[in-house]
Amino acid sequence: MRYSGFRVIKEALTGHKGWGPAWRDAAPKPHYDFVIIGGGGHGLATAHYLAKVYGKANIAVVEKGWIGGGNVGRNTTIIRSNYLLDGNEPFYEHSMKLWEGLEQDLNYNAMVSQRGIMNLIHTDAQRDAFRRRGNAMILNGADAELLSAADVKREAPFLNFDNARFPIKGALVQRRGGSVRHDAVAWGYARAADSRGVDIIQNCEVTGFRIEQGKVLGVETSRGYIGAGKIGCAVAGSSGRVMAMAGMRLPIESHVLQAFVSEGLKPVLPGVITFGAGHFYVSQSDKGGLVFGGDLDGYNSYAQRGNLPVVEDVCEGGMALMPMIGRVRLLRMWGGVMDMSMDGSPIIDQTPVDGLYFNGGWCYGGFKATPASGYAFAHLLATDKPHDTAKAYRLDRFRTGRMIDERGAGPQPNLH
Ligand SMILES: Cc1cc2nc3c(=O)[nH]c(=O)nc-3n(C[C@H](O)[C@H](O)[C@H](O)COP(=O)(O)OP(=O)(O)OC[C@H]3O[C@@H](n4cnc5c(N)ncnc54)[C@H](O)[C@@H]3O)c2cc1C
Repeated sequence: MRYSGFRVIKEALTGHKGWGPAWRDAAPKPHYDFVIIGGGGHGLATAHYLAKVYGKANIAVVEKGWIGGGNVGRNTTIIRSNYLLDGNEPFYEHSMKLWEGLEQDLNYNAMVSQRGIMNLIHTDAQRDAFRRRGNAMILNGADAELLSAADVKREAPFLNFDNARFPIKGALVQRRGGSVRHDAVAWGYARAADSRGVDIIQNCEVTGFRIEQGKVLGVETSRGYIGAGKIGCAVAGSSGRVMAMAGMRLPIESHVLQAFVSEGLKPVLPGVITFGAGHFYVSQSDKGGLVFGGDLDGYNSYAQRGNLPVVEDVCEGGMALMPMIGRVRLLRMWGGVMDMSMDGSPIIDQTPVDGLYFNGGWCYGGFKATPASGYAFAHLLATDKPHDTAKAYRLDRFRTGRMIDERGAGPQPNLH
């Protein structure tokens, strides 16, 4: 069923009896050509592009819980392509272009909102670094603008410009950045993939791999064995655990990241704003809540919940930036499990096991990457060659020393 304005009006006039489920509740078949492990944004996008762009069929996505229950439905919804390094920027700009056409591609309202992202500058050295990053973005075909303090004050007068601990000296802005409704991305990809015959199998946990003579033959699951020609693993925070079942130890640690939502306010924030002197980023949802976050909790964990010290730290960052939120009540918060790689950049690559492919290491920036990641992973699965935009995301770079350390933090996953 195609969604359209006409359809909405027709259903409104006929008692909403014509809406069907957005995707089938598929039962596992004995064998697929492609099995994607993980029904998050990346796994579902991979299945969609495999079917749509690469013309593949007989594809399944196996998800241990429900679609949207992982990080794809837990993030702070920010999209941007404001990267410095050559290994990253073309990839994230490809993602931005896919976001720009996503709703038409999926025939789904994902509420893609290019309301802009403003990275605040607080020191002269930071201005130099952001100017360099902006130039790198422009050289890679993205948009970037450098704002003065007066420009920032005009666009965001509610920030603390009076006697602030960290005075605001300007900002790097990407107008095409913004936010997208996160769970709608999962639902939109699931529906589009299902419409092309992909089986989306929920409540189906992969519990092991069947590997013979270095080749993977299929997966053991909580719903029985499923044979596969090729298997793509896209399980984000569970990457270490799942790939361990195939005998691999990854250069990835799992950490908790929390997100926060305040009570609803009248529209006040024009777009996404990030604090340059601490770790705090905020936007306002269409319902009016301030959606914000900050640092990781700082210890390894697979729990989808965090602790109070980071709540305090994040709220302090918010207060330092815009004291007016001091009287706003925090409505809810939650945590997700982040697959933090050693250099802060992702991996999309074949593995030493024939027929087994890996997608992970997204740290806390994988939501904006969803379309390009799915595209590049589908390309790899279909052709056995890396996509042009993802050539640097090799698994062996940690052995060969070709790190993509965007933040310059070294092999410290909790700092990326
Ligand atoms: C609080 C928070 C804020 C964030 N903010 C942003 C942001 O603003 N911008 C941004 O770009 N990124 C952000 N991120 C990061 C982003 O959400 C993730 O990098 C991205 O969603 C990970 O990819 P995914 O959607 O495929 O993961 P997930 O949705 O986690 O998908 C992985 C799936 O694999 C399934 N799985 C695990 N093990 C198995 C198994 N054994 N068998 C079968 N299935 C299994 C899981 O149940 C899960 O559904 C944030 C993350 C969090 C938690």
